[in-house]
Amino acid sequence: MPRLDSENRAFWTGGAEGELRIMHCNSCDRFFHPPHSVCRHCLSDDVDAKAVAGTGVVDTYTVNYQAWMPDMEVPCVIARVALDDAPEVILTTNIVECDPESVRIGDRVRVTFEQHDEIFMPLFKKDV
Ligand SMILES: [Zn+2]
Repeated sequence: MPRLDSENRAFWTGGAEGELRIMHCNSCDRFFHPPHSVCRHCLSDDVDAKAVAGTGVVDTYTVNYQAWMPDMEVPCVIARVALDDAPEVILTTNIVECDPESVRIGDRVRVTFEQHDEIFMPLFKKDV
């Protein structure tokens, strides 16, 4: 589990309100990830977390069959998801609630959250 700090808290806890929150720079009007207190593009510190739609497309993926940790469910899909309304942001995440073998590059997906105490892991499911 990630350790919460002032930079990443909005990202990891947005799911409590059903929101996927991505850092946005008010100076250059671009999104960036992972969360940071300074814009990765222009180094401005005029940044804040902004809720995005939570929809996107599978950019690439792999199906993992190896249980690396005792409580890991396999097979599972590890994917990179390109967000619709945060054009330069790609999240590394899991695709859940579907047959792992059915996932394809280009699939439309939508965020869903898995709660672990105060952390809400943003995962994605197929948008059908
Ligand atoms: Zn910027």
